[in-house]
Amino acid sequence: MRAAVVEGFDQEIRIEDVQRPSVSAGQVLVRIEASGLCHTDIHAAHGDWPVTPTPPFIPGHEGIGIVEEAAADVRGVRIGDRVALPWLGHACGHCEYCIDGRETLCLEQRNTGYSIDGAFAEFAVADADYVVRVPDGIAPAEAAPLTCAGVTTYKAVKVAHVVPAERVAVFGIGGLGHLALQYARIVGALVTAVDVTAEKLQLARELGADDVIDAAAQDPVAALQAIGGADVAIVLAASPAVFEQAYRSLRRGGRLVCVALPKDGAFPLPIFDLVLGGKSVIGSIVGTREDLREVFALHAAGRTRVIAETRPLEDVATSMADVLAGKVPARIVFTP
Ligand code: ZN
Ligand code: ZN
Repeated sequence: MRAAVVEGFDQEIRIEDVQRPSVSAGQVLVRIEASGLCHTDIHAAHGDWPVTPTPPFIPGHEGIGIVEEAAADVRGVRIGDRVALPWLGHACGHCEYCIDGRETLCLEQRNTGYSIDGAFAEFAVADADYVVRVPDGIAPAEAAPLTCAGVTTYKAVKVAHVVPAERVAVFGIGGLGHLALQYARIVGALVTAVDVTAEKLQLARELGADDVIDAAAQDPVAALQAIGGADVAIVLAASPAVFEQAYRSLRRGGRLVCVALPKDGAFPLPIFDLVLGGKSVIGSIVGTREDLREVFALHAAGRTRVIAETRPLEDVATSMADVLAGKVPARIVFTP
């Protein structure tokens, strides 16, 4: 089968012919129909983070496809089902996090496209217990971005416990941000979109943002404080400076939700202001299988719009370069 393979962190990702994987106990073989490109795939291919994957490997954790084979012991998933292969490819199922609904914190988790070969390929095998069924009526190219960008931002809104009429500032309107602002609206928030490009701010307006702030033209901290400050700021831009801006944009009692993962990530936290202002800083990582089921349910009900551009998998290397250059409207989805 054809797959996009990372042979080394100093080499460009390339299309190769590799052995089609076969199923072991508990696994399904999925014929991939669509697979979204996440910034994490680029960090994986470059070996940017403290824990790196082991080359050769196949990235891709927004895989959507049809189950073609299932091991004899598989329950709950059938041949012919359309499923999503998310970042959480496997968890232990019995630690306190797995049991109490925080499976994305499991210490024994394995991650699709990182420690398990991912979906930038014609086929992928997956743990049947960790795939999520895609409801009828959602096209594969729309389901793919929901599988990471969607569930990650949905979870960010959930962990912040946003309530109606609170102001949510979304820093970074791209693959994640265009969905984050829609989830914030769904729970009744007033949404301010912050970005540095006019096209992305225009997209935010079209998707229902109440205000937009061009951070290239004005100081987003001053602009947000002028309208009372943000109750919640969600950071989706992979730059420590943006985390600091987002924190300073909070009103008293505000919550900073950190989602983006800058390569060299640290920002100063003023303790006096944090304590006296009763502010919170929250880290939020992807979402659970149940979160993804809810994301799909909202989309099937017509409550969200996915902005994506479909490209052939052969374009994987140039697409990664385009994302890094900021030349991509929202999300790229590959078709094998
Ligand atoms: Zn991702
Ligand atoms: Zn566990």
